[in-house]
Amino acid sequence: MTGLRIYEEKKKKSDRASKITYVLAVAAGKGGVGKSTVATCLSLALKNLGLKVGLLDADVYGPSLQQMLPEGLEPAEDQENPETLLPAMTLGIPFISVAHFRKEASIVRAPIANGIIEQFLETVNWGELDVLVVDFPPGTGDIQLTLMQKGEISGAVVVTTPQEVALLDVRKAIQLFGEMSIPVVGVVENMSYLVDEKTGERFAPFGEGGGERLASEFSLPFLGQIPIDRSISRAGDEGKSLWDLAPESVGVAQFSSIGKQVWDSLEKLANTGLQVRQKDPCHIEVGKGDRWVTVSGADLQAKCPCARCEGQTQSDKKEVSILEFSPVGRYAMRFGFSTGCNRGIYPFSLLEIWLEI
Ligand code: ADP
Repeated sequence: MTGLRIYEEKKKKSDRASKITYVLAVAAGKGGVGKSTVATCLSLALKNLGLKVGLLDADVYGPSLQQMLPEGLEPAEDQENPETLLPAMTLGIPFISVAHFRKEASIVRAPIANGIIEQFLETVNWGELDVLVVDFPPGTGDIQLTLMQKGEISGAVVVTTPQEVALLDVRKAIQLFGEMSIPVVGVVENMSYLVDEKTGERFAPFGEGGGERLASEFSLPFLGQIPIDRSISRAGDEGKSLWDLAPESVGVAQFSSIGKQVWDSLEKLANTGLQVRQKDPCHIEVGKGDRWVTVSGADLQAKCPCARCEGQTQSDKKEVSILEFSPVGRYAMRFGFSTGCNRGIYPFSLLEIWLEI
C-alpha cells in the first residue's frame, strides 16, 4: 500500500494530466442517509450510459466506498509521470479513497483532512473523464468548503431521506452550494419506502414526500426515490454492482433514470455560446451572439464566489486589473485579479447576469 507520506511528496502536479469534463458532488446534510450508496450507484448508472466515470471518496471521516466496491487494483505510481498517482480501478471505474491511505480516517483533524483532499485534487491522474463523481463528507464544514473552492465542481446532487431531521441539515448543504455558486442539479430521496415482498404492500417508515418538498422549496428538480431494498444494502456489503446482483430491481431502474437526468443537466449547464474577451487591463467584455457588454474588474471581483472575496465589496473607484482568465471544464471561467485573488470560478450562468442587465 502506498503510504500517506509518499503521497504527500507527489503534491500539485497532475491537474494538467487529467482531463475532466464535469465534477459532480454527491452531498448530504448528515451521515447515514445513503450518500455513498447513491454516489456508487450513480457512478455505475453514468458508466452504463457509455460515459467515462471516475469516483473520488472524499468522505475523510467515514470513507466507506472502498468496502462497497469490489476489490480492484490499489492506487499506483504513474510510471510515465512519477509526480502523479494513478487511481485504483474497480468495475471499470477509476476510484480513489482516503481509505487507500489512512485506515484510521475517523480521527483525521480538519487541517490534515483538508491537506489530503487538496492532494487528491491535485495529484491524481484520472486520465480523461466525462464525469468525476465526488462523495462529499456529510455536513457543511471546512472540508466541504475546500472541495467547493478547489474541486472545480460543476454541479451537485443532494441526497436526503424523507425525515424532517435529515431535511434540516440538507437545507444548509443546499444553501452552501448556492453561496458558492455551484448549481444543485437535483435532489435524490433515499430510503423512501419499503415493499413487503409477500404482500406487495408499501410502507414509508421515514415519512413521505420530504424529498419532493425540499426540491420544490428550492425550485430544484426532484430526481427520484430509491426504496429501502435488501439488494441495495447487499450490493454495498458484498462489494458488488447492483446491476449484477439485481438487474431487474426498482433500484437499478431508479438509479438509471437519475443517472440520465444528471447527465442531461450537466450538459445543459455547459456553456451555451458565452464568450469572454479582454477589453483593457481593467475591463473584460462578456458576449453572446451580437450582444457584448463591458464589465469592470472591480464589478467582476465583487461577484467572486471564492471564500476569500465573498461578502467583500470592491469600491468602484478602486481599479482592479484582470490579469488572467481561463475556462474551467465546459461550465465556468476562472479569473485572476491584481488584488491577488485567482481562485474564483465563475459558472457561465453567473457571467450571463451581465448580459441580462
Ligand atoms: P452515508 O454515505 O450517507 O453515510 P451509506 O451509503 O454508507 O450512507 O449507507 C448507510 C447504510 O445504509 C449502508 O449499510 C447501506 O448499504 C445502507 N443503505 C443505503 N441506502 C439503502 C437503501 N436504499 N436500501 C437498503 N440499504 C441502504
